[in-house]
Amino acid sequence: MAMVKDPVCGMELDSSQAQAQTIYKGQAYFFCSADCRRTFDENPKEFVGKGPGQEGEPLPPVPR
Ligand SMILES: [Zn+2]
Repeated sequence: MAMVKDPVCGMELDSSQAQAQTIYKGQAYFFCSADCRRTFDENPKEFVGKGPGQEGEPLPPVPR
């Protein structure tokens, strides 16, 4: 089992207990409820790439 974070409400949950999941840009996201998944599906960009340490975050240009 693995603990994952519901990107919509921020709740931590066990991925095997997630009520809903979706794949966005090749990455699986887990949700505490179908409602949270619907919210995510409506506007995934709103919830992805927000927090620090997210994969796929564009790196700032390197000054030279
Ligand atoms: Zn949720």
